[in-house]
Amino acid sequence: MNGKRTRIYEGKAKILYEGPEPGTVIVHFKDDATAFDGTKKDVIDGKGVLNQRISDYMFQRLNEMGMPTHYIRSLNMREQLVRSVEIIPLEIVVRNVAAGSLAKRLGLEEGSALPRSIIECYYKNDKLHDPMVNEEHITAFGWATPMEMDDIMHMSIRINDFLSGLFLGIGIRLVDFKLEFGRFVENDMMRVVLADEISPDNCRLWDMRNNNAKLDKDVFRRDLGSLVDAYHEVARRLGIIQEGETPVRSRPKLVKSDT
Ligand code: UDP
Repeated sequence: MNGKRTRIYEGKAKILYEGPEPGTVIVHFKDDATAFDGTKKDVIDGKGVLNQRISDYMFQRLNEMGMPTHYIRSLNMREQLVRSVEIIPLEIVVRNVAAGSLAKRLGLEEGSALPRSIIECYYKNDKLHDPMVNEEHITAFGWATPMEMDDIMHMSIRINDFLSGLFLGIGIRLVDFKLEFGRFVENDMMRVVLADEISPDNCRLWDMRNNNAKLDKDVFRRDLGSLVDAYHEVARRLGIIQEGETPVRSRPKLVKSDT
């Protein structure tokens, strides 16, 4: 089936195919994991399926609360149908607790509370290693208009409130996360919607029931154990994987027989 579809784009963790109707795209979640600008790479069996299920759940909840998103519906374990949008070339990082690059840059102790939630913008450009930019750069270079930035900021704050509460309810601290937005024309109006994915690949999730153990991509970045087990725990607590269900594997394993 994959062979017959038109591939639009392949990124580090996802492939985009042309959708069945005009204005739609199929997002395929891969098992590939990358970190540190793609210098650390691995294929982690089952990661794509877990990310698809978690992201699918998040986008459904966000759609229900009236948040404009690109999400239409899930197609299968690894794929979603989404609205085709022009991606705004920004990574919007929302932070509640000091960690990662912020802790490093400002000499903060990882885990220290921030005086309030902080939103940062990075210019999406692999060659330049996604430099941090401010609204002056963004509007001067035309990456987004001032009105689009207003929408992006308001939506990011609402999403943070919603996600922080959701994770708190299942004993997980939402430390920080990255969002991406897209634009499309509807009734002659340009609209901004949440795009990309929301999964442990782009959130920092700390287990409040287990000494702040990492349940996110830092498990891979810092070699802290099984990434699939961590993502599986997030899915289990969200109630989207049944108790006792084993972590999903994408391919049957080759079993060698001695006989
Ligand atoms: N993040 C992401 N993609 C990126 C950079 C960051 O999803 O290209 C997420 C990351 O998983 C974390 C948050 O954004 O949840 C903040 O990341 P940070 O700036 O601390 O950078 P990192 O430590 O990941 O290099």
